[in-house]
Amino acid sequence: MEKAKVLLHICCAPCACYPIEKLKEENFEVFGLWYNPNIHPFTEYKKRLEEVKKLESIYNIKVIYIIEYPLETWIQDKVFRENRKIRCKLCYFDRFKRTVSVCKGGRFDFWTSTLFYSKFQNHKLMKEVALSLSESYKVKFLYKDFREGWKEGIEKSKALGLYRQNYCGCIYSEKERYENEIKKLKELYK
Ligand code: SF4
Repeated sequence: MEKAKVLLHICCAPCACYPIEKLKEENFEVFGLWYNPNIHPFTEYKKRLEEVKKLESIYNIKVIYIIEYPLETWIQDKVFRENRKIRCKLCYFDRFKRTVSVCKGGRFDFWTSTLFYSKFQNHKLMKEVALSLSESYKVKFLYKDFREGWKEGIEKSKALGLYRQNYCGCIYSEKERYENEIKKLKELYK
């Protein structure tokens, strides 16, 4: 029997280990999709992209790459909407919309995202966005709460020696990551 094809949006290599393994275990044929115009700055974007490239041979999967780095328009779109919930919703919508469109065009049976592995994302909000887009585009969203494999995924990515970043992606999330250091610097230089 032919395996069902699932298009897996991949946000970064370490977050992809558990979802790929889980989907393969469940007998899906997994195809990756790289579309992450939210990663700043470019050096970081390139680094994460190169790590995802490694997954092709590690897991023997094909990955589709959409290389776009619209820094100016990405930021313009978030101006006065920097609040995390609002900007993340826009960010999920953009990435999922592109994934859904590739899913439809490529006649995949399902789509999902490695973002559903992360404990740091707004899971409920992502699910809402994913379901609503899937309904509009008439494609099937494969909902999986990959967070159940959080520890396992971390161990695997470490064993594979994959680069593990310490912020979500956009320049705002980088600032949030270093909030305490900013405070310390202020103290140090006052
Ligand atoms: S924090 Fe992450 S999900 Fe939210 S806008 Fe930034 S890159 Fe996108």
